[in-house]
Amino acid sequence: MAELLVLGIESTAHTFSCSVVRKGRKGEILSNVNSVYRPEKGGIHPREAARHHTAVAPEVLKECLDAARVGIGELDAIAYSAGPGLGPCLRVGAVVARALAYRYGKPLVPVNHAIGHIELGRLLTGAKDPVVLLVSGGHTAIACFGSRRWRVFGETLDLTIGQLLDQFGRAAGFPSPSGPLIESLAKRSDRFIDLPYVVKGNDVSFSGLLTAAKKLLSKEPLEDVCYSLQEVAFSMLTEVTERALAFSEKGELMVVGGVAANERLRSMLEFVAEEQGAELKVVPKAYSGDCGAQIAWTGALEFEAGISVPVDEAFVRQDWRFDRVEVCWSS
Ligand code: AMP
Ligand code: MG
Repeated sequence: MAELLVLGIESTAHTFSCSVVRKGRKGEILSNVNSVYRPEKGGIHPREAARHHTAVAPEVLKECLDAARVGIGELDAIAYSAGPGLGPCLRVGAVVARALAYRYGKPLVPVNHAIGHIELGRLLTGAKDPVVLLVSGGHTAIACFGSRRWRVFGETLDLTIGQLLDQFGRAAGFPSPSGPLIESLAKRSDRFIDLPYVVKGNDVSFSGLLTAAKKLLSKEPLEDVCYSLQEVAFSMLTEVTERALAFSEKGELMVVGGVAANERLRSMLEFVAEEQGAELKVVPKAYSGDCGAQIAWTGALEFEAGISVPVDEAFVRQDWRFDRVEVCWSS
């Protein structure tokens, strides 16, 4: 197929983002414009976030097309994040995508957001057949590819790692999202306070850790609590990841999602990857969090493989698991 130009629209949670990618023999991100909803207090309020997305959508879309120097008429397809995510937020992205597809007569491509993180990670790191550690606000999973699907080796039984960090941060009065501040405070300490470490089989559970860490807030120095929280949570993830590497014998470990930006997590994973003879590949920080590029790029792969939906059959699915997607564009 000739070169493709695809617009991607991301709106699963806090971020509204548009991106244009070009797919020839290689992939190129021509633009990626984000606008993040930041609540003044508390966590994401789905309707408030959706209101933010609705307000910024025209400007973000215009900036994205201008930066890519592409007119809507030149696009081959329009991709949108169809799930999983917060219903009101997902609907904003889907409505914008549907309206553009209808008005300009363009094919519409639904993209699973988690698959988006993985495919963009593969494009940017060059990973071919990795064990994937997906660590973000919406996901915590360790997966390997086999027989056209991502197979989940282990995952969280309750909170995601992003929820653990952000909910702890909220209790400590940190701005949201809290991962970066927790990381910088943790760097100032090396005093470890014991906290619940819960790995069940290949799955992790963070709710007991969150409760215990919050209880320490009034008793121990903040730096020590942040340090200990990171050490325990990241060790749990590293244990399961090491098991996946040993079991699958894959030669690459790829880390994607917003928490991939964390240097301490990266250094723990570097250690086990080396032990298991695998190469560690971490998505670049600029593209670790939610962004339109993950949707545009995966949309281009899907569209090239023949996937699109009629405008009146476009859907969003709040609970669309990524291991339910048949990945027909990869073998
Ligand atoms: P995503 O859902 O992929 O956009 O990822 C967002 C999550 O990444 C939030 O929970 C953030 O707190 C977290 N995050 C961002 N930067 C860091 C960091 N440096 N260390 C740990 N977590 C981070
Ligand atoms: Mg995400």
